[in-house]
Amino acid sequence: RFISFEGGEGGGKSTQIARLADWLRGHGQTVVATREPGGSPGAEEIRALFVSGGADRWDGATEALLVSAARRDHVRKTILPALESGAWVLCDRFADSTLAYQGYGRGQPLPMLRSLQEIATDGLLPSLTLWLDLPLEEGLRRAAQRRGGEARFEGLDLGFHRRVAEGFAALAAAEPSRFRRIDADGTPEAVSARIAAAICAHFPD
Ligand code: C5P
Repeated sequence: RFISFEGGEGGGKSTQIARLADWLRGHGQTVVATREPGGSPGAEEIRALFVSGGADRWDGATEALLVSAARRDHVRKTILPALESGAWVLCDRFADSTLAYQGYGRGQPLPMLRSLQEIATDGLLPSLTLWLDLPLEEGLRRAAQRRGGEARFEGLDLGFHRRVAEGFAALAAAEPSRFRRIDADGTPEAVSARIAAAICAHFPD
């Protein structure tokens, strides 16, 4: 049971992953909560390179290679072992983020990005992808508060974030059986209740 959380900035993914992990553990389940870029020691090193130096340090193709290399290590070292042990895996971002950010956001060709994902994941797909959707301005406001002007984040303009948001909408529309859109507006408790309902609907047992 592999669940990815996707969406733009400030949608509350990490808060909601922590809350869902608690909820599942309260029901006796084993949970591995992880994140991308990162989630294994090697992938966290690549993440540090990726987020350093502002939005202009890497071009779009280099970004795609970095996050895909990190993903391959993360899949092999963290995700597959956890799934094989029977744990639920809750992942903050996965391959859809590469399509949304480097593809829709930075204009890299989607077929190239999809081939990279084939290499990075050996075809592993989340059983369910929760898209935490929040109005762009609200998400950016929340994210700016949290980051206090992180260089990489500040360097990106509103048009970029708008294209990323359109990307997630297009990806969700293309794969309605894997994607669930979650309205991320409201209190953490309200959003958690929507997520719990989506999990129960998707995994009825
Ligand atoms: O999700 P998180 O905030 O941890 O992501 C770190 C930064 O990397 C964010 O600014 C996010 O927008 C960016 N990112 C990206 N391309 C990806 C994944 C994340 O630009 N494929």
